[in-house]
Amino acid sequence: MRANCWMGRGKVEVQDVPDPQILNSHDAIVRISSAAICGSDLHLYDGFIPTMKKGDVLGHEFMGEVVEVGPEVRNLRPGDRVVVPFPIACGHCWACENELFSVCENSNPNAGMAEKLLGHAPAGIYGYSHMLGGFPGGQAEYARVPFADVNPIKIEDDLPDEKVLFLSDIFPTGWIGAEMADIHDGDVVAVWGAGPVGQFAIASAFLMGAERVIAIDRFPYRLRRVERMGADPLDYEEGIDIPDALRDMTGGRGPDSCIDAVGLEAHHATPMYAYDRAKQATRLETDRPFVLREAIRSCRNGGTVSVIGVYGGFVDKFPMGSFMNRSLTLRGAQCHVQKYLRPLLDRIQRGDIDPSFVISHHMSLDDTPHGYRIFRDKEEECNKVVLHP
Ligand code: NAD
Ligand code: ZN
Ligand code: ZN
Repeated sequence: MRANCWMGRGKVEVQDVPDPQILNSHDAIVRISSAAICGSDLHLYDGFIPTMKKGDVLGHEFMGEVVEVGPEVRNLRPGDRVVVPFPIACGHCWACENELFSVCENSNPNAGMAEKLLGHAPAGIYGYSHMLGGFPGGQAEYARVPFADVNPIKIEDDLPDEKVLFLSDIFPTGWIGAEMADIHDGDVVAVWGAGPVGQFAIASAFLMGAERVIAIDRFPYRLRRVERMGADPLDYEEGIDIPDALRDMTGGRGPDSCIDAVGLEAHHATPMYAYDRAKQATRLETDRPFVLREAIRSCRNGGTVSVIGVYGGFVDKFPMGSFMNRSLTLRGAQCHVQKYLRPLLDRIQRGDIDPSFVISHHMSLDDTPHGYRIFRDKEEECNKVVLHP
């Protein structure tokens, strides 16, 4: 089959690779109809997530048709149309029983590698390094889906792919970002990153009762998008200090909740950013926590900072004093997608939200390398690429 493969820093290639096979009696094979490129893929593309190997098949946002099931799969049959959540969960361990699917204790065969870096291991994730299981991803014609009874959600009506595909990742991720931010009616919420994940966090914050959402980025086309969603755009390249600006916009108090939808590749034009770049380049810190620091410093006393931007390892100059002395709450997660599939599909079916609003580009699988480049470099007003194998 054809698949998009990681070939080293800054290089992906669509290649012929072996077709996936049923390896376990609970597996299913899915023929992929639509897949997407995620901001998390950019961290792999840019070489910031360890334990990638040349030739690894990328992609963790995908959906399609079941073409084969293992002998013990009960809930799915060939012909079923499914969306597949990006974390792989067994459904039966302590974490899964507590709806903490992205930290499933059974789905990561390389848990020992992750424990060395993270202390304890999270779940396996499709196409997301060997430390997270080494599972081939879904930017491909077919994928093997483990624990097939537990993970995918069946789409039983005629909703088009583009309305349901993002249930695999970024819609639930924006949602959990807002949920962890503990939003109450009338709150002011600040969201760093006006990319697709930030956009779903904004939409979710409004659905949860936020009165005002302030969105921070530097790309005018993205700031225009979030403005159309009802958020107040703030361009950090206009020479303003973001924590100061947020203080001014909130009567001196600061936003009730701050959401980091940027993660480890945060950009800026200040000496602190140069410091992060130098430290990251010399491997003295793995991640650039520019936005995390700003979110913590900006948040009102007693407020909540929610981290959905991905971090890989270690950060420097973490504002521990601000966090502790001002009674902040800090939460983070790889999204527990399975928990949100049904309720968010219900919302799509009811018409509360149409997730296809994020799509800017449709491409064939063969054009995936171009998709990565324009999504990373924010060219052609790229917001979200959908691939059609
Ligand atoms: P993206 O690259 O399209 O968007 C990131 C945005 O952040 C860009 O528009 C960029 O200009 C902006 N940005 C960079 N530096 C900034 C700064 N200093 N202040 C404000 N904005 C800044 O990516 P995306 O697809 O929207 O993903 C965003 C993040 O969410 C990534 O880190 C991705 O890995 C993560 N993610 C997490 C989960 C999860 O489960 N937690 C799931 C999906 C994606
Ligand atoms: Zn993702
Ligand atoms: Zn589990």
